[in-house]
Amino acid sequence: MSYSCPNHCTKKSSENKFTIKKDGVYFRKSDSRMIQRFLCQICGKRFSNATFSPCYRQKKRRVNEILFKLLSSGVSMRRAALILNIHRTTVKRKLEFLAKRSKERHEKLLKTLEKGPVTHLQFDDLITIEHTKLKPLSVSIAVDAHRRIILGAEVSKIPAFGLLAEKSRQKYGRRPNHHAKGLSRLFNSLLRAVDKNALIKSDEHQRYPEFVKKFFPSAVYKRYKGARGAVVGQGELKKIKRDPLFMLNHTCAMFRANVNRPIRKTWCTTKDPGMLQKHLFIYMDFHNSILVR
Ligand SMILES: [Zn+2]
Repeated sequence: MSYSCPNHCTKKSSENKFTIKKDGVYFRKSDSRMIQRFLCQICGKRFSNATFSPCYRQKKRRVNEILFKLLSSGVSMRRAALILNIHRTTVKRKLEFLAKRSKERHEKLLKTLEKGPVTHLQFDDLITIEHTKLKPLSVSIAVDAHRRIILGAEVSKIPAFGLLAEKSRQKYGRRPNHHAKGLSRLFNSLLRAVDKNALIKSDEHQRYPEFVKKFFPSAVYKRYKGARGAVVGQGELKKIKRDPLFMLNHTCAMFRANVNRPIRKTWCTTKDPGMLQKHLFIYMDFHNSILVR
């Protein structure tokens, strides 16, 4: 725990050890703990052990860990609020707090992967929706096929395709296509965590080769034809004997099964792509730190 003054005056003092004095304790009701208070003798500022905590000023810190698990186990935000006996607005705020924490942990994980880079990468896109099927979203996902670590998931808006394209344009106007930006963000974040000569596998999506060529020019890149979805695994596991993209498809199925927004035929749809991105960060962290390790 840091004992330096929040006003940074201890840095100016040469004997900084003696400028901070203990100044009593207080009882924190939200988790029944005694918290030490301090006084800075230079500026007279009072602070405590809680001041530097990421949970500073939270009133429901007891539910953070259980909410982290519920949101990564297919429970909706409203049902989590009911189970934990907290308001749904609190769940929304906590989702944002947990997502920020998970994002930081994910960045740390990618940093540690630089020492033992990924040698077999698989990536693909998972299609989900923003409130209606007329507004699809694409989630670009990358996994380490050896260690099963999820390396990234980037949400981007895409226009409706196929039979719904015309109807979507009539009802909501032209929808921008941010797929290329999403893929760029994903590959950019992986640059240092993936070995330059890694084996990279994907399906035969027409835009993929340009990104692999741009970001990993010396990698061995293999493409496979898509297959029909099996009944199990949310349509992500394929109806063939040996799926070359199994690890990726299995991860997509895990996303769909454990984050309630991209589940097929759900009524818990995403209303805001930004919140889906945050929810995916929470699941990625849960998957990498609890399921895989
Ligand atoms: Zn001070």
